[in-house]
Amino acid sequence: MGMEDEVVELCRELIRIDTSNAGDNAGPGERAAAEYVAEKLEGAGIKATILESDRGRASVIARIEGEDPSRDALLLHGHLDVVPAQASDWTHDPFGGEIADGCVWGRGAVDMKDMDAMILASVLDRARTGRRPKRDLVLAFLADEEAGGAYGAHWLVDNHPELFEGCTEAVGEVGGFSLTVPGDRRLYLIETAEKGLAWMRLKAVGTAGHGSMIHDDNAVTELARAVARIGEHRFPVRLTDTVRRFLEQACEAYGVEFDPKDPEACLPHLGTLARMIGATLRSTLNPTRLDAGYKANVIPQHAEAQIDGRFLPGYEKEFFETVDKLLGEKVQREFVHYDIAVETPYEGDLVGAMEEALTWADPGAIPVPYCLSAGTDAKSFATLGMRCYGFAPLRLPADLDFSGMFHGVDERVPVDGLQFGARVLDRFLDNA
Ligand SMILES: [Zn+2]
Repeated sequence: MGMEDEVVELCRELIRIDTSNAGDNAGPGERAAAEYVAEKLEGAGIKATILESDRGRASVIARIEGEDPSRDALLLHGHLDVVPAQASDWTHDPFGGEIADGCVWGRGAVDMKDMDAMILASVLDRARTGRRPKRDLVLAFLADEEAGGAYGAHWLVDNHPELFEGCTEAVGEVGGFSLTVPGDRRLYLIETAEKGLAWMRLKAVGTAGHGSMIHDDNAVTELARAVARIGEHRFPVRLTDTVRRFLEQACEAYGVEFDPKDPEACLPHLGTLARMIGATLRSTLNPTRLDAGYKANVIPQHAEAQIDGRFLPGYEKEFFETVDKLLGEKVQREFVHYDIAVETPYEGDLVGAMEEALTWADPGAIPVPYCLSAGTDAKSFATLGMRCYGFAPLRLPADLDFSGMFHGVDERVPVDGLQFGARVLDRFLDNA
């Protein structure tokens, strides 16, 4: 089977293996998918190791020797888990891997069994045809990305850093996809930065009492005030190097002037991507959960809320100082989950190899760096000193709401986009 047929089959088969991860470590786990991947690799003569952090929470690691073992190694990583899907909401079975309307449908079609399949299709083809990569490649197919990686990337980095020995650069998800711009050209967004995340639990403690009386130490009131202050707060626009470069190039592609004093002016041109890109111009705070009390006439002693906070690379200190001011004196915070922001310069040979592969496959390609508003396993690998990029190449039709596919209903990937991705990734590996 050729690489372009195989990438489609691999993607469909991976989708059919349910690896739903609701974040409670009670799902099916990644074991079956890990065994599937390991078997494919072993079948092409690539030694693969399955590691379990907990029962069924499996990741696969493989190392492929390059032509020049004295060079630093490159890590290619993808996660095997997916967020859950409610089948009744979908047009096609989310775990069916069906092909309809020119797309492969199913949970994971863009996040990110598509890239797992591209990586596999390329390395299997290379192994069979004796095409060695220029330098050592480490492959990682990981558990638990959708819940922050505690059973996947974080666990491997903490417990088995030797597996990543010599890796100085890493390539993973949420980058390399196209955004159609005027003149039949396409921006390809290569991820070079990610916002940090701070999911916080807020706690207010007051005095419990009877709901009928005068009461000025009410935990619910205190908490509600803090939640409202946080929800209404708007951080100032802060242009990081990555975002400035993205906006300048996006403006140029749309034929509008980039105004550093009003960098948000060009957002409306970006269509469905505007909300995500807009969130990379400033840090954000969004209240997401509330919990207090147990009866209408009882003032509870405690009240709790949860906040989803995201901070820009380089602005973590400003972010937390602001949060603490907004909380006020009577509300405390603790982390539900915290992870770092990352940013790496858009320069060097690896970026050059991505750009070359994209323009080789699409002469209308304009590669640009961008910052992801969310997070990926790149955060774990950055702690080992790797420069991390998101590059899962996809040429997409102009009218597809790509960012809406992530964790969305009717997640799907165009078959020709997937095949384009395999070609580009394979070409990239020729030169990376
Ligand atoms: Zn993902």
